[in-house]
Amino acid sequence: MRIFLSSPHMAGEELKNVEAAFATGCVAPLGPQLDAFEARVAAYLGEGLHCVALSSGTAALHLGLRLAGVGAGDEVWMSSATFAGGVFPVLYLGARPVFFDLDPAHWTLDAGLIEEALAEAVRTGRLPRAIVPTDLYGRGCDLARIEAAAARHGVPVVVDAAESLGARLACGRMCGAGGDASVLSFNGNKIITTSGGGMLVTRDADAAARARFLALQAREPAPHYEHATHGYNYRLSNVCAAIGLGQMEVLEQRVRERRAVNRRYRMALQRPGLGFMPDPAAGRATHWLTVVTFAPDLLGVTREDVRKRLLAHGIESRPVWKPMHLQPVFAGSHYVGCGFDESLFRDGLCLPSGSNLSRDQQDEVIDLVLDMLDAA
Ligand SMILES: *Cc1c(COP(=O)(O)O)cnc(C)c1O
Repeated sequence: MRIFLSSPHMAGEELKNVEAAFATGCVAPLGPQLDAFEARVAAYLGEGLHCVALSSGTAALHLGLRLAGVGAGDEVWMSSATFAGGVFPVLYLGARPVFFDLDPAHWTLDAGLIEEALAEAVRTGRLPRAIVPTDLYGRGCDLARIEAAAARHGVPVVVDAAESLGARLACGRMCGAGGDASVLSFNGNKIITTSGGGMLVTRDADAAARARFLALQAREPAPHYEHATHGYNYRLSNVCAAIGLGQMEVLEQRVRERRAVNRRYRMALQRPGLGFMPDPAAGRATHWLTVVTFAPDLLGVTREDVRKRLLAHGIESRPVWKPMHLQPVFAGSHYVGCGFDESLFRDGLCLPSGSNLSRDQQDEVIDLVLDMLDAA
């Protein structure tokens, strides 16, 4: 592959921070870089937030759901269009996901469906233990509305903000700062990376302390190893946090770069039959990945035609998330919606969107797509 969907983009300071971590001898899970990284992200996201750096976004969701009280037999309501790591932790806890469709107006979890389902669940006495709205492809979900609906019924909200660091909601809040807790990911393909990592963000100091405790194998304060509950080995290493510290310095720049990539695709790919994720009227999307939909009846090409053509030229692209209710592992699960997420999966393709994508590389992608459309 010559051109990647979204590859790590270092700023240059990361290595110095890693050397500093080595110099202090803190190559273990704890250390000054880890503390500084947590403080830096907390300050970026807003006031009064506590951040717990973890080994992955999946781990962060696992802890977030456990702290929300999710346990065996519970229901967790979530977006069907998402990455598996944003769902599997429900299974780790013995709970059951119920999948919801996206709202075609903004391509994130349909708040109206959640409101209706909550009203129905009250009647039948089957409220979910938690709701997990997912921010998709760098755009925040309809969080204020989902939070309000959840609060009316006392249901905790854990926001999967793995794809939206740097984005802002219409109300001005940063994505990753909302809900009872939010989950971030620093996986290699995200807008910034620690080479692998995640974070749990919450306003609740006790919850943050509890997350730290659980992430270090639930060790009680004692000279020997003492455990009153089961924990996890989920803490981010201080060395990885050092990388993250360097990446935080360039986060705003990365947002600008990703948005510029999106703008160029939007300007170049304007044809009946091509569609883009709606840009929020207020707030800010990062456009972590740019998604283009191809309507085969209007264009004469499918998203698979385009994907294969790009691949033949060494260019990585990827279909939109295959909805979880269509995944074999979740066969028989409950799904609420009309299949907008299915149509996005069928027609939508994520184009190379990295902040390190050069103009020439992007032109190459655009020209290949336009050539195909002209030839069809
Ligand atoms: C990347 C991602 C995750 C998982 O994060 P990891 O750090 O890879 O475990 C969860 N949910 C969504 C929506 C993601 O995109």
